[in-house]
Formats: sequence, structure tokens, C-alpha cells
Amino acid sequence: MNTIPRDHPRYWSLMIREKIVEGFKNGVVVLQGVIAHGRGECFDYLIGEETIPQAYEAIKAAVATLLLADYPVISVNGNVATLVSREVVELSSIVGAKIEVNLFYRSRDREEAIKDLLIENGAKEVLGVGEDADRVIPEISSERRRVSSRGIYKADVVLIPLEDGDRAEALKRLGKKTIAIDLNPLSRTSRVSDITIVDNIVRAMPLMVKVAREMSGMSRDELYKIVQSYDNKRILSDVIKYIADRLVKLAEESLSNDI
Ligand code: ATP
Repeated sequence: MNTIPRDHPRYWSLMIREKIVEGFKNGVVVLQGVIAHGRGECFDYLIGEETIPQAYEAIKAAVATLLLADYPVISVNGNVATLVSREVVELSSIVGAKIEVNLFYRSRDREEAIKDLLIENGAKEVLGVGEDADRVIPEISSERRRVSSRGIYKADVVLIPLEDGDRAEALKRLGKKTIAIDLNPLSRTSRVSDITIVDNIVRAMPLMVKVAREMSGMSRDELYKIVQSYDNKRILSDVIKYIADRLVKLAEESLSNDI
């Protein structure tokens, strides 16, 4: 890994980028995943590279939904495994969710590499690898539609970080409740999901783990209330307004700035 000086103004962003590059070199991340990361970085810049209140509200609703679920599953692709394997495993154990490898660009080597990374980080079971991906999601082409009958196929709630729009839509058609983590509030995945956490996964997942620990003692009634008062359309609309207001403020500031 390249060494980034700690005092670099964009230290964290560059460290995350290095992790993606490392994932690419280890066969966990594909080239398309590198590009997707760049798109995410752009939206992260727009929200100010911090967890905004709307994301926090979505995280609470997401955790409540996962805690109430009968059969929750966390879907993991290469970028997710590279960036937050440990948190995926922690969250899965707090909310009782299965972990499934779910790839847009499937290859046996990559499935195994992602599984190994999750196991190194404490996972006891990883679904969706090789023959375990034994079912198909209708209406999606090729390898992208394979899922596990013990995992996503059976799930009532699926956490889909960094998912593509086609598959997010197909999961909805299958009747799944979906929770997206996606920095782009305009993506199809963001718009079709029941709950959308517009935040960088490197901030959102550790926060979800913390919130899950705090909320795991709540009654089902309390959890239902949180879920019922949540409105994803309003959250997405508020995120877009947040970005717009922030940009107007920055534009005004830039007039009085010498930089
Ligand atoms: P869609 O098909 O949903 O309309 P898309 O074509 O942009 O959107 P992909 O490129 O397949 O979908 O998915 C990547 C998504 O993940 C992008 O919306 C990107 O903003 C988001 N993303 C990338 N990196 C991160 C990250 N670290 N944290 C959160 N979101 C991220």
C-alpha cells in the first residue's frame, strides 16, 4: 500500500482509495468497482464527507428493520468486502443476519477471495459461493442473477450496500424489503429501496454496528414505531435539498474567499 502522510488534507479519502486499489490487486474488487468508487467519492464531496442527519435517520430505521426481520441477509460485493468486512460480520451477528456474496461480475476465484476475507474477519458462514448460489432472480441476465436458496432467495429483508439498479429493482419485484447504502441519492437503487442510507459505507457501517448495539435491547413495539415513522421519499428529497443548500452556501462563500 502507498504511504499517505497523516497530515495530508485528504488523508482518509486517500486511505480508502488505497484499500480499493489493494482489493483490486488481490482480486476482490473489479475494475468496474474502482469506477463505482470514484462515482461514490464525487457524491461524498457533495455531502461534505460526513454522515448527514438524513443518513442517521435512515440508519436507525434500517437497524430497526433488520432487528424486526424474520430472515435478514447482508449482500456483499467486492468493494463492500474490501472496505468493511469486519463491520459486516459484526452487524450480522448483532441482528442475526446471514452474509451472502452477491456479485455483478462473478468468478469462482473472486467469490472465494471475498469469502476468505469475510472469514478472516470473523464470519462463521458465507453464502452465495459456488454451488451455493443455486437459485436465480428472474428477469436479470447472466451471472448477476444467481443467489442462494439459504440466503437472499429466502430473505424477507436484504441489506444491499453499493448495489446496481437492475438487481435492486428485481429484489423489490421478488417482494423483498431492501435497505440500500448508496452515496448517490439519485440512483435507481436509492429510489427503489425501502430505506436508503446516503452515506459512505466506511462511515455508515461502523455507525450501524453502534446503533444496532444500542437498539438491540428495544422492544418490538419501539422498533415498529421507528420503522413506521420513516419515509424514504422524504429522506431522499431532503438529501437532495441538503446538497443543493450546501452548494449555494459554498458558492456564496467562494465569492468572499481568496483561494
Ligand atoms: P443505479 O444502477 O442504481 O442507477 P449506478 O449505475 O451508479 O446506479 P453502480 O455503479 O452499479 O450503480 O453502483 C455503485 C453505487 O454505489 C453508486 O451509486 C455509487 O455512488 C455508490 N458508491 C460507491 N462507493 C460507495 C461508498 N464507498 N459508499 C457508499 N456508496 C458508494
